[in-house]
Amino acid sequence: MRTFADELRDQGHNVHYFEIDSESNEQSFAKNITLLHQEHSYDIIQYQEPDEYRLDQLLAEELAEIGPTIEMVGSEHFYTTRSELKDMFEGKKQYLMETFYRQMRRKHDVLMEDGQPTTGKWNYDHENRKKLPKGHQPPEPKLFGRDVSRIVAQLDNAGVNTIGSIDDKSFIWPKNRDEALDMLDYFVQELLPNFGAYQDALTNDYWSVYHCRLSFSINLKILSPEEVVRTVESYWSEHQDEINIATVEGFIRQILGWREYMRGIYWAYMPDYEGMNYFDHETSLPQWYWTGDTKMNCLSKAIGQSLEYGYAHHIQRLMVTGNFALLAGIHPDEVDQWYLGIYVDAFQWVEITNTRGMSQFADGGIVGTKPYISSASYINKMGDHCKKCYYKHSVKTGDKACPFNSLYWNFLDRHRDRLSNNPRMGMMYRVWDKMDDSKQEELLIQADKYLTHLEEL
Ligand code: FAD
Ligand code: SF4
Repeated sequence: MRTFADELRDQGHNVHYFEIDSESNEQSFAKNITLLHQEHSYDIIQYQEPDEYRLDQLLAEELAEIGPTIEMVGSEHFYTTRSELKDMFEGKKQYLMETFYRQMRRKHDVLMEDGQPTTGKWNYDHENRKKLPKGHQPPEPKLFGRDVSRIVAQLDNAGVNTIGSIDDKSFIWPKNRDEALDMLDYFVQELLPNFGAYQDALTNDYWSVYHCRLSFSINLKILSPEEVVRTVESYWSEHQDEINIATVEGFIRQILGWREYMRGIYWAYMPDYEGMNYFDHETSLPQWYWTGDTKMNCLSKAIGQSLEYGYAHHIQRLMVTGNFALLAGIHPDEVDQWYLGIYVDAFQWVEITNTRGMSQFADGGIVGTKPYISSASYINKMGDHCKKCYYKHSVKTGDKACPFNSLYWNFLDRHRDRLSNNPRMGMMYRVWDKMDDSKQEELLIQADKYLTHLEEL
């Protein structure tokens, strides 16, 4: 915000920026804007459409009291308007992401030729699921130097609780548009060729692998999603011999598809969405989510890097921290609070749809067609966490049994009434039903033991 304010001033705009600990800061939008209005007597106050429901309501209510004409203007930082997804599926039972994505590709002419996908196929998802080969080393994450001492002192003064550490020489997030554009350049040149293949890979050694780390800049409106998509598409069209279409399509689907889809779901279902708890989960989040202090190596790594960098990639969020929270029956409010508090890119519109929706299935299937759950076998297949873990991924009961295994079956068993009719879950219920009663009982006893001692895992 501070560098943006400076850039605007350099362009000749009048900017009033309230620093967090400034005496004139009333710590309220309405009060600060009232103060400015008293000083400058505005005829009209215009503001950019907020992305979050809470802020949308608050500004609409509080600014109306101030006096001058109030106008909300749209944002060029999304491909879609708030209601576009809802309008597109008017009268339909479900908002299908794949249908929406194809419509976006057509509408915005992305990877399209004569109304058809440029390379003949819409989706290459199944080609993008490899683990990192042994000894494979991704490029170093891009860092930015910066003196952060003043703002750190101000945050301390203001009593803001923080996590992680901060270092002037290795600041990991771009602070302005030039740095964000550098990051985009770095992504297309150094990371994009391998993004697709390793987008689901889990590893002990690299915290961002081939991910772009651009969600922060896009969500903060430093970069527009369209310029990111266009840059990737045009880089690919000039380097088709080096970059596989699967990687490019996979990346573009995340932004043009998933990101816009989540925005549409948010505005279609808020405010009801934030109260949804399909499984009636009530358990508290274990304390180790705030420290990373658990014997489960996959969780310790995902949580540790999240606390340190404010970042974890999608599969860590979905299949490690999210998967465990769902299997353990954690209350979705607590899961949301954690994700909102931890990640640098977290804003409610995209956090809650991913967390409560995609990850916790608390919306009962609005976002996903089935819960994203797995036992240890998936985590073991996608990386090397299990090799260095206290628990054994292949063991289901006993002292060293990986908790994901028994919790997985316990989850299916306890939510049978809500899930067994789901066609995508039928196979798992058939496997469970074929198991001996004694084996089922052992698994349920093991899961019970873990569920009553979550803090000790
Ligand atoms: P990459 O893996 O390199 O992906 C490229 C870009 O695609 C991202 O920068 C992002 O803009 C977009 N993208 C990818 N997946 C999604 C998605 N599911 N929804 C929306 N955009 C997507 N993303 C956020 O921006 N904020 C959040 O608060 C957030 N919370 C999440 C919580 C959970 C439980 C899960 C499973 C996912 C969450 N995501 C969130 C989505 C995704 O994990 C992050 O966008 C991604 O990890 C950011 O890292 P990256 O920029 O390196 O992304
Ligand atoms: Fe995670 Fe289980 Fe593997 Fe340990 S054994 S890393 S807890 S999946």
